Amino acid sequence: MPPAVSQIPSVDEILRRDIAAAAVASHGRHAVVASIRAALDGYRRQFRGEPGPSIPRGEAAARIAAAAVAALTQADAPYLRRVFNLTGTVLHTNLGRAVLPEVAIEAAVRAMRHPAALEFDITTGGRGERDDAVRPLLCELTGAEDAIAVNNNAAAVMLVLNTLAAGRETVVSRGELIEIGGAFRIPDIMARAGTRLVEVGTTNRTHLKDYAGAIGSETALVMKVHTSNYLIQGFTKTVTAQELAPLAREAGLPLVDDLGSGTLVDLSHWGLKRERTVMDALRDGADLVTFSGDKLLGGAQAGFIVGRRDLVQACQNNPMKRAMRLDKVRLAALEATLKLYRDPDRLAQSLPTLRLLTRTVAELQALAPAIALAIQNAIGAERVLVNTVPCASQIGSGSLPLETIPSIAVSIEPKGGRNRMEPALRVETIAAAFRQLPIPVIGRIGKGALILDLRCLDDEPAFIAGLVDLDQSLRGSDGSDAASNLDSR
Ligand SMILES: *Cc1c(COP(=O)(O)O)cnc(C)c1O
Repeated sequence: MPPAVSQIPSVDEILRRDIAAAAVASHGRHAVVASIRAALDGYRRQFRGEPGPSIPRGEAAARIAAAAVAALTQADAPYLRRVFNLTGTVLHTNLGRAVLPEVAIEAAVRAMRHPAALEFDITTGGRGERDDAVRPLLCELTGAEDAIAVNNNAAAVMLVLNTLAAGRETVVSRGELIEIGGAFRIPDIMARAGTRLVEVGTTNRTHLKDYAGAIGSETALVMKVHTSNYLIQGFTKTVTAQELAPLAREAGLPLVDDLGSGTLVDLSHWGLKRERTVMDALRDGADLVTFSGDKLLGGAQAGFIVGRRDLVQACQNNPMKRAMRLDKVRLAALEATLKLYRDPDRLAQSLPTLRLLTRTVAELQALAPAIALAIQNAIGAERVLVNTVPCASQIGSGSLPLETIPSIAVSIEPKGGRNRMEPALRVETIAAAFRQLPIPVIGRIGKGALILDLRCLDDEPAFIAGLVDLDQSLRGSDGSDAASNLDSR
């Protein structure tokens, strides 16, 4: 029998439940009433045309109140969730790249909370320039004459091309026509920036004479692009910026070097492979260098253009700059991040990106047993095999694409179902359950196991505390897994 109309509680009755009253205090009456109406509709629909159990009014009110509050809580959860990045890719574009240093976070909060002298010169009381928050620092740290900052490195490249080469030609090696993360493709960026791409050389080999032959009366720019996410191996030849600079200079053309990640320090000091620095590029003769703020630099999303003053100023004066400029929050964070580079000896402690990249295997090994045990207890030793295994982390975001850093992971492998009542877990189900935790844990699947690289785990108490929900989340998990589709670029 469907419940009689009289058994369906009213909105007011549901609102009087304690749980609903508490929700009004936190979400407001309007939202709670709307959610109750929706839950009530759902309840009515459940019984339409079907015989339903006769649920007492009071109990029905309690159930509907609970459903309404649960829906509200879920809708209130931020889309931009904090996650544990245990993918092994330290600068993971899909997971927000660099984690900011504490001083940068404080500076950003200050800039958000109070008015800031963004375009105001405190000394003269006159107008200031927004990029002055980072310009002197960038010049000091890179030796460049001048610098500006924009939304990201894609914007930096776009602005440089549009400013210096619109309506004319830009010469680039075929081997450097990169695509990053799908939408950033050098040929497309060139077209949108209004410059004509002149490709020189072949995919695997480009010679200086190829550049020389391509330079003509229509040429505005010679460009080098860091091949951030691939390596051409075998029978190859590239022309270095150092070799290219005299040719560009002789032709009276600017040489632009898009470094992509770009670093301000020699990473070999910390046992990492050396990546060409911004100073190297300038020393090699690049007139402008472009690089990101949130890749190896370890700051907020931004793109920097540093180099010759006349060229930087031309970029600054392009009306497009306004559409790409940074807000006070990111400028504050970047200023604080860049200041850390004045004390390189302590950078491995002060800059989270470098700290994570330089964690030793021994340090990670020491974390592993407690993590492995907690996971095994949370899922059950009869259902999974949990092991500590060596693995290889990546820097990510197009820095040293083939370079890996030895690391330690916890691997979670489903065991075959022991009996018919409990079928074997699928590894995708385990991965999905970890993603459904209050702080989602993102790992990667390899060889039939979920691999959790411990390199970026820096809050083990929170990680372990979150595991209490794992069993629940394993039951609710649908097993669909998109983690393997994550794009680390
Ligand atoms: C990453 C990268 C870009 C784009 O930088 P964003 O900061 O992601 O906009 C451009 N060029 C190269 C070579 C890169 O590696």
